Amino acid sequence: MKGILYGLVAALSLSACDAPQPTASPTAPAAARLPIIDMHLHARRAGYMGPSPPPMCAPFAVMPRWDSSKGAEEGMAFEVMPPCASPIPAATTDEQVMRETFAIMEKRNIIGMISGDPDLLPTWKAQSAGRMIAGLDLRIAKDDPRSLTPDAIRKLHGAGAFQVLGEIMAQYEGIPPDDPRLEPYWALAEELDIPAGIHMGSGGPGDPYFGSPGYRASNSSAFGLEDVLVRHPKLRVYVMHAGYPLIDDLRAVMFAHPQLYVDISSIDYTEPREAFHAYLKALIDAGYGDRIMFGSDQMIWPGIIEPAIQAIEEAPFLSPEQKRNILYNNAARFLRLSKEDIAHHNAM
Ligand SMILES: [Zn+2]
Repeated sequence: MKGILYGLVAALSLSACDAPQPTASPTAPAAARLPIIDMHLHARRAGYMGPSPPPMCAPFAVMPRWDSSKGAEEGMAFEVMPPCASPIPAATTDEQVMRETFAIMEKRNIIGMISGDPDLLPTWKAQSAGRMIAGLDLRIAKDDPRSLTPDAIRKLHGAGAFQVLGEIMAQYEGIPPDDPRLEPYWALAEELDIPAGIHMGSGGPGDPYFGSPGYRASNSSAFGLEDVLVRHPKLRVYVMHAGYPLIDDLRAVMFAHPQLYVDISSIDYTEPREAFHAYLKALIDAGYGDRIMFGSDQMIWPGIIEPAIQAIEEAPFLSPEQKRNILYNNAARFLRLSKEDIAHHNAM
């Protein structure tokens, strides 16, 4: 997710059942130390959302409204009414973003797929104490200096710079998932067997008017990925933000394409809890509980990670096993982690 307002705005042989049992730290309750994989973390500068970013609601009770006679700064309803119960302040320095993110990762034993600012990532990796799976944000618009060519990505991958191609930001650029401009990237990810994650879902309210003129909500539909899946059957891809809120499209595509996974990032902490739980329950009830992966989409509000986890832990319709699948086991399978990796995570 990126929006101005969200400131407001070799196949793994281990299954969920035979993953090693965790060893609890003597200083924390066992449940607090079971490992969690966050498939959607970002290394961002504190100024990523502009100066003086507002606190974040986790969750929102009411979605922002815009008076279009006014500009973004004065017109967007930053003053969400009613105000959120416990606003999460934005970090104010780059150092604070990183330090507080890692503090929560350490506290909750989180291993995170972290993508973001290429100038920050080496520092984050050095400070991560082995908790980081390196991602690569992808933009492809020709006029964007952050865009990367397939050749550049091949070189970065060859140099071991990243393990997951994501977050693919095409929706913000007005590029549908099955657009010919993305095709060489899908082909490359399939050829090199790189797991890939593409943003398909909510960004920030008002994105098409404030910062991402190409953003279209219609590109959230999982149907947009269908031809890509057919063209690249070995592609390991997950829909970031689970194509929210287009549940019927997602269910149809997850049924026809049983290799497809999703993450539930950002919607798990921004959406009103009942709306998020209804979406998650619909996926669970439809039989897709083994392809849903936890993600937070932490950007500059490290305090949102724990509310995102709580949205899973407190879901009354999830069994303890379903919670563990979402928080860890499904991602371990998708990433094809080794038995050794999993044992290590349980001992961290
Ligand atoms: Zn996103």
